[in-house]
Amino acid sequence: MKSITAIYPGSFDPVTNGHLDLIERGAKMFDRLIVAVLRNLDKAPLFSLDERVEMLTEVTRPWPNVEVDVFGGLLVDYAQRRKASVILRGIRAVSDYEYELQMAMMNRKLEPNLETVFMMPAVAYSYLSSRVVREIAQLGGPVQGLVPPAVEQRLRAKVF
Ligand code: ADP
Repeated sequence: MKSITAIYPGSFDPVTNGHLDLIERGAKMFDRLIVAVLRNLDKAPLFSLDERVEMLTEVTRPWPNVEVDVFGGLLVDYAQRRKASVILRGIRAVSDYEYELQMAMMNRKLEPNLETVFMMPAVAYSYLSSRVVREIAQLGGPVQGLVPPAVEQRLRAKVF
């Protein structure tokens, strides 16, 4: 029987309810979903790699077919190592499309058998990004409803 493993790659700095919406949809659609945190960020992240993995592990516990991992280097190489045939990415608005299309086409050129699947979150999360969450938290604003409670606590501890 064919079993499909998908990889959901990203920075997850931190994981938001928008990411979780996509994880929930992905966990229903694929046999296995690997949420893969990118190791080599150019910019300094707010949360360390370990912190991001810890938060993701905690909030994805309800889904037994979801795994959290870390990767560096080319995504196509990582996908091959993990025997994944699908890359899952989120599209919130038209503004995401151009960048995501470029990435998807480049990954297809590198590995034609790897499919990129795009999913749209619930409308309520279509304006939500990790960057906006970081900015609100750093300015002392409320992030309730934008991130899971565990992440809210960590943000508060980080900022104050
Ligand atoms: P990256 O640095 O790779 O963009 P992110 O953690 O910001 O990492 O996002 C990872 C993926 O999740 C991307 O495909 C992004 O479009 C998607 N994503 C981010 N926020 C949301 C959201 N609110 N709803 C749906 N998808 C989202």
